[in-house]
Amino acid sequence: MTTAPGTGAARVIMRKLRDIVHTSEPAQEKLNKLVSMIASAMVADVCSIYLKRGIIHELFATEGLKPEAVHRTRLKENEGLVGLVAETARPLNIADAPQHPRFSYRPETGEDPFNAFLGVPIVRSERVFGVLVVQNRAARVYTEEEVESLQTVAMVLMEMVAAGNFGDLSGLQEVEVRPSRPERLVGKGFADGLAIGRAVLHEPHAPLGRAFADDPAREEARLDAALARVRKSIDEHITNDPGRLSGQSREVLETFRMLANDHSWESRLKRGVRDGLSAEAAAERARAEHRARMQGAQNAILREQMHDLEDLDNRLMRALASPDGDDKLALPDDAILIARDIGPAELLDYGERLRGVALEEGGASSHATIIAKALGIPLVGRLTQLGARVEAGDRIVLDGERGEARLRPEPEVVIAYEQRLELRYAQAEEFARQRDAPAVTRDGAEIKLLLNAGLMLDVQHLGEVGAEGIGLFRTEFQFMVSERLPRTAEQIQLYSDVLAAAGDRPVTFRTLDVGGDKVLPYMSSEREENPALGWRALRMGLERPALLRTQVRALIEAAEGKHLRIMFPLVTVAQEFIDARELVEKELAVAQGRGRKGPAKLEVGVMIEAPAIAFGISILAGKADFLSIGTNDLMQYFFAADRANPRVSDRYDILSAPALKFLRFIREEAARAGLPLSVCGEAAGKPLEAMALIALGYDRLSMPAAGVGPVKRMLRNLDAQAAHAVVESLLTSERPSVRADLAAWANAENVPL
Ligand code: PEP
Ligand code: MG
Repeated sequence: MTTAPGTGAARVIMRKLRDIVHTSEPAQEKLNKLVSMIASAMVADVCSIYLKRGIIHELFATEGLKPEAVHRTRLKENEGLVGLVAETARPLNIADAPQHPRFSYRPETGEDPFNAFLGVPIVRSERVFGVLVVQNRAARVYTEEEVESLQTVAMVLMEMVAAGNFGDLSGLQEVEVRPSRPERLVGKGFADGLAIGRAVLHEPHAPLGRAFADDPAREEARLDAALARVRKSIDEHITNDPGRLSGQSREVLETFRMLANDHSWESRLKRGVRDGLSAEAAAERARAEHRARMQGAQNAILREQMHDLEDLDNRLMRALASPDGDDKLALPDDAILIARDIGPAELLDYGERLRGVALEEGGASSHATIIAKALGIPLVGRLTQLGARVEAGDRIVLDGERGEARLRPEPEVVIAYEQRLELRYAQAEEFARQRDAPAVTRDGAEIKLLLNAGLMLDVQHLGEVGAEGIGLFRTEFQFMVSERLPRTAEQIQLYSDVLAAAGDRPVTFRTLDVGGDKVLPYMSSEREENPALGWRALRMGLERPALLRTQVRALIEAAEGKHLRIMFPLVTVAQEFIDARELVEKELAVAQGRGRKGPAKLEVGVMIEAPAIAFGISILAGKADFLSIGTNDLMQYFFAADRANPRVSDRYDILSAPALKFLRFIREEAARAGLPLSVCGEAAGKPLEAMALIALGYDRLSMPAAGVGPVKRMLRNLDAQAAHAVVESLLTSERPSVRADLAAWANAENVPL
């Protein structure tokens, strides 16, 4: 490939480009020379430059179209083939342009005889500034080399615009090369928290002014060094496999290694620098191409491969950006990561060095969200156009509470946020001080505060917040952050690590709860009309028991000689629990048959998440060892309101007479059946909701780490008997919510919320 015919043309173009760029001629003159040079080097009948002015694309220079069309032909932002290239930010290479549905005929240009069309975007940081086009009479498709050459020219053109080379062309001032105004992007807060910091791009851009390299040999050496470092770091990942935590499996890393050593990737990059590009520009060009091919790929495997290659391009860019470091960026200590989306392994690579994460995509139960929560940093997602609005080093305020990002904020905004952060720090200190204080109400009710966890990272919080154990360990997280099904050995390892870290504190492992909104990409599943009401959690576990059996086996093995608590999600009728328990007993017998002594103590419990099982608690007496209410699901099914749909999720209130009556009923049923009962949904971690639960007689609450401090502070100031009387009196309320009444009472009683 290195000796392909186009390569020579690219080099000639680069040399001539440089000559043109460096003259002191007026901008229009430079553009005119540029188009005629490209047309002749590429043997094209036409070469035109369209630049964006406001919401139109204006023809700025042409060779081959009628000269009088220059500055007269103006296309609407999304008009014609030029609009299509700008819209998709991808090259368009077609043999028969007039036949294309998006072709827009402009008589003043005289373009009718031209059939072949190649347009590439003039783009930087995902912002499109214009389109560069070549056309030929003969209907033909341009070669890969030709596309590459034109992309290179577009890159250099972009630099010229950025460097103010066209400053004397009226109207171009509005081209905002580097965003500088304050902006507020509204998205969704997926992980709570506030952060003020500086933007670090997960997909860095080549620095402006560095498209050309003066010394190709030096660039090649830089490229070699960076490539070597990227490869070395992948090798190290394979040897030291941080696997269990990152979930990045060996197979995936091996694929990565293979791609990193792929000859065509390297030779393409090399060709770029030999043609006169800087190493960064060559890497950026490769990335643009991989991205375009990924977006265009119909085939899932090819798309996946292009995605991996793009990831490698990013690693290479990072290696080039921090020549002394590893392939990670040298991060400022207030880094806020900016990315389109990010996988769990990559996010864990940055780990504790981040203050927050801002994404264009992301989701409430996405892997990145799970990890951000475990790291205790805010994650705001669904920030449209984020990549195009931020540059590395920009100041950013990230608000996980409101789900927004403030880019380059005004000083007043920063001050306001600094005050909010101060308040949070002060509270955190207060919570830390009460860490070892007993969780007992003013009138002596002892409450057990437990932690919800799902990764090893979460387990570290146990001691930090002073929780008495793990009330809910969501085992599916290991499955969700993995690229493939975790092996039994990996499951055993995680469960033993968790038990070891918890020491004497009990851990309740919830078996795999997938399906619904928790999808495992590597497990094929049929699309269901109503996934939340579908084949999920224990329903799946009982029907396809292989997975559940393996998991139970792993739990039994990890808990050898220890206290093991297992609970099953979404039990709907008692028989499901009976079957699941039988499966556990069988696995225990198998282990014992192999000479293992098994756990010192085994308890098996039921999650109350489907309203039906609340009416089956009496059947569970003597069969189950404990119950735990998952209020997230229980309320979703109680109110028939999707917990993940913001339009309805906040419409109904757990702090309402019907829900509280239901919770009182469950507590009474559990007491009658002699079964210990806890609450492990999000409600348990919110002070006002926790107050109502304690008032109803609940004394075991399991919650995210951030909830422990506020809930403990609330209950230590609470008279549970008095609260009980208030909640009882509100059970007859006819209003849709009694939240305000409860808050007013707490306020009057000086119960901090
Ligand atoms: C719940 O439903 O309340 C619960 C704790 O389980 P999850 O949130 O994992 O569905
Ligand atoms: Mg649930």
